[in-house]
Amino acid sequence: MFSRIPHYGSCTGLIKTPLSMKIVPQAICAALLCVIAVQGFSQPTLITSHADPLPGATQPCISDAMYQVIEQRCSTNVHMLGLDHLGSQRSTSVPLSWPLRMANGLNDNSYYIISAYVDQDQSAGSYKDWNCGTNTYDTHRGTDICTYPYPFYKMDHNQVEVIAAAAGIIVDKHDGEFDKNCVHSSAQANYVVIEHADGTFANYFHMKKNSLTSKNIGDAVAAGEYLGIVGSSGDANGPHLHFEVRTANSAAAYKDPFAGGCNTLNGISWWAAQKTYTEPSILRAQIGATDPLLTSCPATETPNESPCLQPGSDARIYVFLRDETQGMVVNIKIKDSTGRAVLSWPLTSAQTQLASIYGWQQRLPSVQGTYTLEATYNNTTSISTFDITTAQCRVASSATGVADVAGIQQATIYPNPTSGKLTISGAGLTPGQYTVTLRNMLGQDMLSDDMHVEGGESQKELSVASLPDGIYMLTLEGNGTVTTQKIRKVSY
Ligand SMILES: [Zn+2]
Repeated sequence: MFSRIPHYGSCTGLIKTPLSMKIVPQAICAALLCVIAVQGFSQPTLITSHADPLPGATQPCISDAMYQVIEQRCSTNVHMLGLDHLGSQRSTSVPLSWPLRMANGLNDNSYYIISAYVDQDQSAGSYKDWNCGTNTYDTHRGTDICTYPYPFYKMDHNQVEVIAAAAGIIVDKHDGEFDKNCVHSSAQANYVVIEHADGTFANYFHMKKNSLTSKNIGDAVAAGEYLGIVGSSGDANGPHLHFEVRTANSAAAYKDPFAGGCNTLNGISWWAAQKTYTEPSILRAQIGATDPLLTSCPATETPNESPCLQPGSDARIYVFLRDETQGMVVNIKIKDSTGRAVLSWPLTSAQTQLASIYGWQQRLPSVQGTYTLEATYNNTTSISTFDITTAQCRVASSATGVADVAGIQQATIYPNPTSGKLTISGAGLTPGQYTVTLRNMLGQDMLSDDMHVEGGESQKELSVASLPDGIYMLTLEGNGTVTTQKIRKVSY
């Protein structure tokens, strides 16, 4: 469906070729003449308009040698942890949630673009994704999810977190590798591998150096739990998450979490809620006195967003789109504090591409006050607030319609290992009603009980004396949070 963007050495560098104008002059002029007549403002001038290359490749972003090393390590660890008895059948009881989230403080409307799905075409030299499109490359075994815009800025400021798509046990983890690679190489990635209760595996690659969870191999993680920060470690040409799922600890057992007409690896979706093939959206709209600096990999970009601007000055307004689709319209508005649009103009997409940047120069109103910049595309909206003032800037603020994911709260569970009783302390939990469930490694419920937390002082005791020795997963669920911890039952 998409024409592939040529892959440059960096996912952040701009295309250096002359930019094609994507504006529809008649539509813009019609809208602007209206604005000019009523408001007396000047016409916005389109100063930037182009596709942005994302991390992509003509070769897999995990080398065969790397796959072999990881497979060997996982094999040893799985055996050591006593997890090799698990089946290798995909179970619908382990649905995957999205493996990324915005960290607190990032207020963009969205933050990612999928630059490559799993290659479903087994013949050498050709490729095809699950939807029979070409958003993949030959022999790719995972889903590459890029952070966008400003991928290195996002990485430096820990703005996009890799989180566990499903609960499980960490069976391999590697950190400490350089994380700003711009070209493909044999470099090692910072990564985490998790085995789920149904014996399937999920691999999370290319993370930022020293950003990985402090949990160790053998520790349990809950769905949604923090694993690291998106980076460009290993065989990568820009910050992205390579997310790969398998039915067994073997590179050959890879699957595609997306179900679709051209998925020949597995029939059903692994996602709890599968995203659509494309998601045409506005990711971010911003206003500033100057242009953002969109430097080449591995330099960090400078957004240059301003919380306040001088009356009557020429501002720079930028929008960043995901899955831009020919014929769809971006509407940009500047509203005053009463909600009245004092400036507005549309832009009709002239082509279809994964990542797009548009920038305008626009003369601002001379009336001081608080304004909002609002940009909409395909029913998604990005809103940011700024002041037109001669006074000093206040702190920038912006708001979007995207809710942040609730953080994982911590209960204290002891002793662990245990031979008889297990105590769960509610200190650190928000008061409310919780459910405690203990499952074996096949995901079967062994014990379940309610727990009422009041003032963080509540405790719950479970007797595990009658259970067979082994590893269990204890899940504490309530108040919109889920915490999972590995428990070892032993007989003394
Ligand atoms: Zn990849």
